[in-house]
Amino acid sequence: MILQVVVDISHSDVDRAFDYLGEDVPIGSRVSVEFGKKRLIGFVIGKKQFSEFSQLKEAIYLDTPISSEQLELMYFLRKAYNLRYIDILRLFVPAKLRDERDPEYTRIFLNADPSAPLEDLLEKVGQRAEKQAEALKYLAANSGQYLSVMNAKFGVAAVNALRQKGVVVESAVHDRQTPLNTLKKQDKRVELNADQRTAVEKIVNGKGVFLLHGVTGSGKTEVYECVIERMLSLGKTAIMLVPEISLTPQVLGLFRARFGDSVAILHSGLNASERYDEWKRLKSGEAKIAIGARSAIFAPLENIGAIIIDEEHDASYLSESNPRYDTKSVAKFRAHLNGAALVLGSATPDMESYLKASEGEYTLLTLPNRISKYSLPEMEVVDMVQEFRSGNRSMFSLTLKEAIEETLCRGEQAMLFLNRRGFASFIRCKECGYIAKCEDCDISLTYHKEDNELKCHYCGKRYHAITKCPNCGSTEIRQGKVGTERVVEELKKLCPNAKILRMDNDTTQSKDAYFKILSSFSAHEADILVGTQMIAKGHDFPNVTLVGILEADAALYFSDYRSSERTFQLITQVAGRAGRADKKGRVILQTYAPRHYVFRFGRTYDYLGFWKKEINTRMVTKFPPYTKIVRMLFTSEDEQDVVDATKSAYREVSELERKCGKFVYLGAARSPVTKMNGLIRYQVMMRVVPEQYAALIGDIYAIADGNRPKKGSVFVEVNPQSLI
Ligand code: ADP
Ligand code: ZN
Ligand code: ZN
Repeated sequence: MILQVVVDISHSDVDRAFDYLGEDVPIGSRVSVEFGKKRLIGFVIGKKQFSEFSQLKEAIYLDTPISSEQLELMYFLRKAYNLRYIDILRLFVPAKLRDERDPEYTRIFLNADPSAPLEDLLEKVGQRAEKQAEALKYLAANSGQYLSVMNAKFGVAAVNALRQKGVVVESAVHDRQTPLNTLKKQDKRVELNADQRTAVEKIVNGKGVFLLHGVTGSGKTEVYECVIERMLSLGKTAIMLVPEISLTPQVLGLFRARFGDSVAILHSGLNASERYDEWKRLKSGEAKIAIGARSAIFAPLENIGAIIIDEEHDASYLSESNPRYDTKSVAKFRAHLNGAALVLGSATPDMESYLKASEGEYTLLTLPNRISKYSLPEMEVVDMVQEFRSGNRSMFSLTLKEAIEETLCRGEQAMLFLNRRGFASFIRCKECGYIAKCEDCDISLTYHKEDNELKCHYCGKRYHAITKCPNCGSTEIRQGKVGTERVVEELKKLCPNAKILRMDNDTTQSKDAYFKILSSFSAHEADILVGTQMIAKGHDFPNVTLVGILEADAALYFSDYRSSERTFQLITQVAGRAGRADKKGRVILQTYAPRHYVFRFGRTYDYLGFWKKEINTRMVTKFPPYTKIVRMLFTSEDEQDVVDATKSAYREVSELERKCGKFVYLGAARSPVTKMNGLIRYQVMMRVVPEQYAALIGDIYAIADGNRPKKGSVFVEVNPQSLI
């Protein structure tokens, strides 16, 4: 039998199947092959009787980790995202299976024989064997050590001699760390309310894609759990995806309590062995539920009954580095192959998801009410332009200052949220709130210090930097940078006795630190938590009754067509942190644009009102979901190289445009960030209507691949999250 094998090298030159001789093993098998002068792991993706090549080498069968469904998924991903075979296959198997070594490999652990006193053992070793005696004493003093470490420390000869003389005991251990602690939580059963019951029944008895729209605290998680439970009782399996940042010990503990060992949890805190163990439990059918961040969509489950994507609007579901893919499309494909229900849940659904629900392509399910007797906290919008004019130059408005004091007086806690994303980049007038925008796109311009220019990231149009507000003439027109550190400093002056915790990228370098800050705040060891996006999600702090949002509009002027959507999502989410339990919450939102529709609708949690306004804007300005933004990004160390590639690709895309009808937009330019990690970046940008997209994307990939810079690379992004 000829086996068609993809070898474990991620490179375009070997992105195809190679012929090997082998037994008739199933497709999806893992084999060991000689490739060049190396021995490598490979995956069988096809079989045939004859090969046009002679003198084929042999492939040695190892096991069959990949299912036929996953192979179908492979072809889908290859076509949709222009990925290499091996980059896709690697998504399906844990890293351990890419090792030549046996994945069941365990390390040998040595210890001095505990049944005899050390003196006796030393006597057995003999006076003259100094090195051996030294090694033995070391083992006794340290309660043992790994064989590999001993070999490195004392030499193989000495260690082997000890083993032969029978003075050490050996045991095989997994080289695993202690797993991430999950807080123990009681499984609490609740009676579903009518809305929840309807949602569960429709999902379990229905087909296709469901959009579960429910405000924070409306009981979505409860619906997910019931759906999973029902699927298990039908003998099916389930996948549940949550944003990585929501995989807190609390959430994990909740699922463990409810589903015990039938759940496998895949999160970034696992080491290779743990990941392999969880994968094996899913593959063998021992575990029937996979919970994890986006990569859990590739879990080796069969007979899937439901795929759930919580916080479906979250940006982390788009993989933005190789392999690039959109988790939602993958989920749709797998759900379709398995006849499973796909549930997208959110308090603030993605624009496109809600459009599809409103057009009937998805089934809309709504949980309009909060479970707890308190409704969502009231939001107050504070006009910072007014504050500035009346002489308050601090970053806290009077209202917020007073609210903080009152909250702390009552012994309750506050969270202050600072949106830092893209903060420094836009230009705003402090006197009148004016924002510099692109004339053609109505999107905020980004200030580029290196050229002292303002640029539009979508059409590339450039503007002179301004020093005076064109609207009111004020020179208070700047982009400032306020970080969490400065907030904490000012806060300390304001409330000298308060205990303050800070959470941002700097303070949470390790996952441990992240959980430590959260549990410390949860235990009321601090009064105020100041943080970035990180504190916006999924944490339940019953004693938090005040949430302050500083710079609520910072995300609004990030030059991105999704700015308003992101801002709406953010304020809804942050507001959801206040008054989760039995205490009424208060939210104070500081902004320089109090009349912006985001705040008008956001204040009252009016998602539908916001959606209608925003979707209309998207339609008029021709942004997604009414178009797809496609960017071809060329990079190289050599400017001429990258310019040549970009020009040639641009010509070919223009040709394609002439053949297929006009795109909404087509342009070629330097990328907004022209140089990154020593590479010069140029791009061809397109906006294509969805109806043309399916027919065009293959050609677009081909043009990109055909114009790879000689000394660089090219990749294509669809609706990228950011355009740097
Ligand atoms: P969401 O995921 O929409 O934010 P959750 O599912 O976390 O909401 O529910 C919020 C809280 O309400 C949780 O503590 C949950 O246990 C509780 N809860 C959910 N459904 C019910 C119900 N039907 N009866 C009582 N409590 C419920
Ligand atoms: Zn002004
Ligand atoms: Zn523009």
